[in-house]
Amino acid sequence: MKKVLGVKSLNFKLWTYFMTFAAIIMIILWLLQIVFINSFYKTMKTNEIKKIGNQLVALYGTEEFEQELLDKSFSEGIVINILNQDGGVVYPLDIMDFIRRPRLQESAFSQFLNQLYMSEDNFTVYTRSHESLDAETIVYGAVLENRVGPNYFLFINTILEPIDSTVNVLKNQLLVITLISLVLSMGLSLFLSNRLSAPIISITRSAKGLGEGRYDVEFRKGDYQEIDNLADTLSQATKELKKSEELRRDFIANITHDLKTPLTLIKSYGEMIRDISGDNIQKRDEHLNTIIQETDKLSRLVDDMLDLTKIQSELRELKMEEFDLRNESEHVLERFSYFVENEGFEITLSSEGETGLIGDKLKISQAVYNLVNNAINYSLDDKRIEIKMEGNLDEVKFSIKDYGQGIHKEEQDYIWERYYRGGKSHTRQKTGSGIGLSLVKTIVLAHKGHVGVESSPGEGSIFWFILPRNLKE
Ligand code: ADP
Repeated sequence: MKKVLGVKSLNFKLWTYFMTFAAIIMIILWLLQIVFINSFYKTMKTNEIKKIGNQLVALYGTEEFEQELLDKSFSEGIVINILNQDGGVVYPLDIMDFIRRPRLQESAFSQFLNQLYMSEDNFTVYTRSHESLDAETIVYGAVLENRVGPNYFLFINTILEPIDSTVNVLKNQLLVITLISLVLSMGLSLFLSNRLSAPIISITRSAKGLGEGRYDVEFRKGDYQEIDNLADTLSQATKELKKSEELRRDFIANITHDLKTPLTLIKSYGEMIRDISGDNIQKRDEHLNTIIQETDKLSRLVDDMLDLTKIQSELRELKMEEFDLRNESEHVLERFSYFVENEGFEITLSSEGETGLIGDKLKISQAVYNLVNNAINYSLDDKRIEIKMEGNLDEVKFSIKDYGQGIHKEEQDYIWERYYRGGKSHTRQKTGSGIGLSLVKTIVLAHKGHVGVESSPGEGSIFWFILPRNLKE
């Protein structure tokens, strides 16, 4: 079947994303834990000391100062001293210290003073290697202002413990973590990609079936929303395809019948003229007239079919102009005067409100023509046809009522489809191509209007459309 691990496949993509994700996390971990850990640790420690120092400076002079100083030096394991101007330790002192008078080493104290005076803030933090311990230490210094007498200094000193052994432990741990996470992400990506692609593969299989003309395929749902939506869309498309396939079949059946009948007639009348009526002028003319009538029927049929394609392509460029729907409808009715004069049709036209609008006059007249034509075609004994128009500020409604055969409820949605012909009877006298209403709908929709029908069998139908008048500027 399909390549499962093609470079463009979901499986491969997911796998790459997961691996990249795992690799990035690992790289960040390595950088933080191994490469930058020393400077990271140093910065952290420095910030910590700075915070403690600044807190103590702020507390100096209050009652909590001494307690806080003790607490901090114990809890953090750091040396906190208060020095006088000569580097002598003022705090903490035990009894012996009164005799020993401990003071900071000369070099250390002068560096301390130097750093403090050079600092732009009123404190300083710097590193210094401890002579006897052979290790780096962090020193914090700040001035403690006395209200009476010379100021003191806050001196905090803490050792920066070497963390090489920790780094080694971390390295080993990270190695294991890296391996585990790579294996995990590989497994997870395979698992997920299989889960994700399964419904897609199933839908693809169904769609393939659809492509082969099986309209009963089912699109599997129930995995996740996006796939459900896709399945719904495809089911909808299948339904539409099925419908238009049925229509196409009906159309071919209808059209072959409709083409065949006049052709058979034309042929047989042609033969009759050749074999029998050739010399009998009266008979010959009769037969020739039938041939001409049938040819007319044929060309009307072809015209209808061409019209739809033409109008559909032309609708992209409507020729908009201002016209009066009532006037145009009256012109259209003139073309049906034959039916009124000879076949007993009674067509009335009335209007209310404004019926002027901006639209493509020819196309809208064509829509009116088709509706009148249908009303005449599908009328039975009661040959009244009533056309009404109602206009308001924004829209004009056109409706045409006949008292003919009417349309079943179930059929009413389909009649607007191209090539749909009601009744499924191919023996009807009236030749229609099933295009008339689809043209009406296409034209009205192109004008951003809507169409509709109210009808019940045996009682007649009202077809209507509403067009925006488009007149406000
Ligand atoms: P045609 O009239 O060429 O068959 P249309 O697209 O104009 O095609 O109409 C489609 C179908 O709708 C018709 O076959 C008919 O069954 C039904 N129909 C249209 N107009 C009317 C009407 N006024 N009364 C009853 N049925 C109608």
